[in-house]
Amino acid sequence: MQSKALPVTVRRMIETTFDIAHAGAEANCKVDSNVGGELAQQAELVAFAHYVARVFLVLGRARAGAVVETLVDTGTLKWPAVPALSETQAIARFVDGVSGPRLYFRLNTHGTLYANLSVDALRNALRDRHADVRFGERLVRVAELMARLGATGQVGEENEFDVALAAADVAWRSAVGDGAGVPEADLECPACGFAGEKFELRVWPSDAAVLRRCGRCGTGVWRREGHRPRAIRPDIWGAMETMRAQLAGAAPVAPTLGEASLLGELKRVFDENDWPYSEVDGAPVLVAELSGPEGQWDFYAQAVEEKDLVLLYSIAPHRVPEDRRREVSEFLTKANYGLADGNFELDFDDGEIRYKTVLHLQGDALDVLLMRRLVRSNGTALETYLPSIHSVVSAAAAE
Ligand SMILES: [Zn+2]
Repeated sequence: MQSKALPVTVRRMIETTFDIAHAGAEANCKVDSNVGGELAQQAELVAFAHYVARVFLVLGRARAGAVVETLVDTGTLKWPAVPALSETQAIARFVDGVSGPRLYFRLNTHGTLYANLSVDALRNALRDRHADVRFGERLVRVAELMARLGATGQVGEENEFDVALAAADVAWRSAVGDGAGVPEADLECPACGFAGEKFELRVWPSDAAVLRRCGRCGTGVWRREGHRPRAIRPDIWGAMETMRAQLAGAAPVAPTLGEASLLGELKRVFDENDWPYSEVDGAPVLVAELSGPEGQWDFYAQAVEEKDLVLLYSIAPHRVPEDRRREVSEFLTKANYGLADGNFELDFDDGEIRYKTVLHLQGDALDVLLMRRLVRSNGTALETYLPSIHSVVSAAAAE
């Protein structure tokens, strides 16, 4: 094995840690981030929200009440002495992933987790750490938002990250002077090609990546330094945006591009076929799940109004590891050659495989039965090829 000198820039990943200790009547809380300024403030708000979300999960809904009360109480709380030493450490790492933002979060407790005491100690430590008045307001807001979610039992294992990021985002933008309208030079929406000033900022603590929402089509645009901007998968982005809209108390933002015709048609056809779907806030996309003997996979239908067509996608449930993408790509190219009504696509950046079917409408209304046939053939194509794709991926071991 030879070592090669690669032109890699080592980037600092933003990390926030909380060390909370309770002994007798004493509470000690240490907060640390490896950055300063507004990035540290953002990171700590997200990490705080995530901490609260995790505490809700650990406690379960029945016991969450005390934490909810702690969160909405802004006065100085008096706590009884704890009977035994308790130490809790939380770590949050903000990962600039290839296909979007990710968060690594870990919580360790030695001794009993004193949920409401630790949340209170943590909030006090954060408030004392930043002399900024706006930070104080934002912290109060994050606490309120998390209290609301905890009280209504809306925090689950699957949405911890969305919840934490949305609470920090909504709180961040509730204070003035957030720079949300600052245009980013030469950003172009990978979904609709829009380039202009209407890219709303979304909170993401990183000095090497930015997260924005396209002001025209609503797509989540993710740009890492040195890479072209890419669209965040509509279903993932949709979940994030829906949570944000809900916390902001606003109705989901409708896309400015003709929501009326084609997306409405898509919904009608899904309804008439009795297909369950969810909508993506601000994007002309319906998300569903398909299943068959090979398992379950994500499916979405996208209306492209300006081109008068509908795109159907089935997403393979597993990503291709980096060292097998070339082989899989070759296999898919051969597969595509024989396919009449759609094609496979492999994202070389993250290894995602999807099967796409295009429906050109040419001014016609969407036909229920035609859509039914197309959705079925789209799913069947993915399912037919999945076993072969798996063999190509696992052939690595045999080489
Ligand atoms: Zn766009």
